[in-house]
Amino acid sequence: MNQDSPLSLLLKEPGRSALMSDVDGTLCRIVDRPEKAKVPVKAKHSLELLSQDLGLVACVTGRPARVARRMVGADSITYFGNHGLELLEPGSDGPTMVLEGEQVDRAARFVASHDSPHWVTAKIRVEDKGPIQALHWRGAGERTEALVRTIAEQAHAAGLVTHWGRKVLELRPPDMEGKAGAVEALLTDSGLTTVVFAGDDQTDLDAVKRLRTMQGKGQIDELLIVAVDSDEGPPELMEVADFVVGGSDDWIDMIATLAA
Ligand SMILES: [Mg+2]
Repeated sequence: MNQDSPLSLLLKEPGRSALMSDVDGTLCRIVDRPEKAKVPVKAKHSLELLSQDLGLVACVTGRPARVARRMVGADSITYFGNHGLELLEPGSDGPTMVLEGEQVDRAARFVASHDSPHWVTAKIRVEDKGPIQALHWRGAGERTEALVRTIAEQAHAAGLVTHWGRKVLELRPPDMEGKAGAVEALLTDSGLTTVVFAGDDQTDLDAVKRLRTMQGKGQIDELLIVAVDSDEGPPELMEVADFVVGGSDDWIDMIATLAA
């Protein structure tokens, strides 16, 4: 463990410290097709090492929890997947679902009834994330973006919540707290008082705001926010971060340095 790392605040009381990281854009580069994204093995090793000492090491991600665990490859850490819907504990076979009832497939039912050949022609790809349906249009043009805006209006009218990310529109059931709910759930009654959180996108900003609120209420003593800079991420995230890095490789280097 390296005391000179900017993350060394986690080492003061390791058992009461949490390292949380987003996955896409933070532990790996964003690629045109999400299924091709690769997390470097250096990240896996560092996270596994840190999980031996820290109270919590968790990936908080929009991906389904099991997909995230397969991508990152570290079995000894926690995955809060699907934007706060699936909690996958270390060593556990399957995630615990946070949402139940008819809300679970509300977005999927919307997609099933609205999906048209136009979507394919416009290069919109639907990612089925269970309760969340994600429409990707990376590589498509402005006309597609206009179509996606129309779909978003229809989804609103159908009672769904829309969430915009980097070339992705997510359709979610209402009353979903996303990553904000995930980080709060991980910390509540956990005894964890020092938190490092890293992310690159709008959903991470939601989590950061919740963490700052928790800090303001005295539920967290020390908080360090790391933002991974990108042209597509929200500028506000860079403004509120304590530390801004140029890319996912830099964030992985920071983790590796801490673990070394
Ligand atoms: Mg991300």
